Amino acid sequence: MKKLAILGSTGSIGKKTLEVASLYPEQFEVVALAAGSNVPLMEQQVRGFSPRLVSMETREAAEELQSRLNHYPTHAVQVEWGTPGLLGVATHPLSDLVVSAIVGAAGLQPTLEAMRAGKDVALANKEGLVMAGELIMTEAARRKIRILPIDSEHSAIFQCLEGRYKEDLRRIILTASGGPFRSLPREQFSAITPDRALDHPTWAMGQKVSIDSSTLMNKGLEVIEARWLFDLEIDRIDVIIHPQCIIHSMVEFVDGSVLAQLAVTDMQLPILYALSYPHRLRSGRTPLKFSHLSPLTFEELDGERFPCLSYAYEAARRGGSMPVVLNAANEMAVKLFLERKIPFEGIPILIRRTLDAHQPRPAKELEEVLEIDREIRQQIETEHKIQ
Ligand code: NAD
Ligand code: MG
Repeated sequence: MKKLAILGSTGSIGKKTLEVASLYPEQFEVVALAAGSNVPLMEQQVRGFSPRLVSMETREAAEELQSRLNHYPTHAVQVEWGTPGLLGVATHPLSDLVVSAIVGAAGLQPTLEAMRAGKDVALANKEGLVMAGELIMTEAARRKIRILPIDSEHSAIFQCLEGRYKEDLRRIILTASGGPFRSLPREQFSAITPDRALDHPTWAMGQKVSIDSSTLMNKGLEVIEARWLFDLEIDRIDVIIHPQCIIHSMVEFVDGSVLAQLAVTDMQLPILYALSYPHRLRSGRTPLKFSHLSPLTFEELDGERFPCLSYAYEAARRGGSMPVVLNAANEMAVKLFLERKIPFEGIPILIRRTLDAHQPRPAKELEEVLEIDREIRQQIETEHKIQ
């Protein structure tokens, strides 16, 4: 029985992880859950999975949860809140595997603390790795922690690389759906609303990753994620548009041979593999019916319409504080776009401006990384209040 702690249990990945856990009650037990502010859903999850510890982002949310639970008590569950509560869930003494599925920079510290407590990590939170990839990977190596990717592309690469020699690898090829605006002419970008950008053609995901997919910054973050997870120079990671999302990514070896991982588009599959690794569990998902598939197609990405990917390569090449700045500027730009304070085309403009205005500096320690993250957010917030 593997014991799980889930960070971000009320989100898209968190809910799917619990679905997986409920499909295999003999294999997985949920011991701790952390989330933001969705009290009704957390109450449901507590009643359904009987964790020992849960944490909400604010005191108010924790108090509301506690009073709901007092109303119809089920079992003894400890309710905490804020950073101490979140870190308590991340480091719960009973857990074997921590599922890191908080969105954004808020996922970094609990992921790192989970590793420092000796936990293996099933990683969905890509932003933490973008901000502090070196720190996370050094910590993982030092403590012999396993990081099992949940992101479908990285799960695919992980599966393709198993049992291979690193020196035989030539490059990684990440596939990208192209997002909802893949074929939209640039003149029509000014009419893009948050609702349209949230409507992804193949994946149903949380708001932030949906917007990131529509700007292709998601692929930029994933290139940096792959750079750290697989310890490869950024320029050996390529991106190709593959709108059907059947091939989840590929690896090319020095002899020119390419391995790809294929499966139906369903995040349950990479989650299941991260949870069951190194074994595989039978899944109820429909197998791929090759003769029913539409043709698998590939195309180059249009960097003119989608400049965010090249900003991510640039930030990764320059290193130091630049990836932290890229991530913070992107998180702020997505937030401002969702609040209808900037247009869709304003997202890459804001990121570009923030990168240009920043003086790169080292960002090796957690405190340095968090300080730069705070600085950039404050700077952008001030700029937008003044305007
Ligand atoms: P989501 O917005 O649906 O869920 C985020 C979760 O984090 C929620 O439970 C929320 O309550 C919690 N949360 C946010 N801030 C918090 C805080 N400060 N303290 C505690 N909890 C907090 O997001 P998602 O789509 O599930 O994505 C989660 C992560 O997984 C992201 O990094 C995303 O890039 C990555 N990812 C998602 C998908 C997908 O299909 N959704 C696929 C690949 C990777
Ligand atoms: Mg992905």
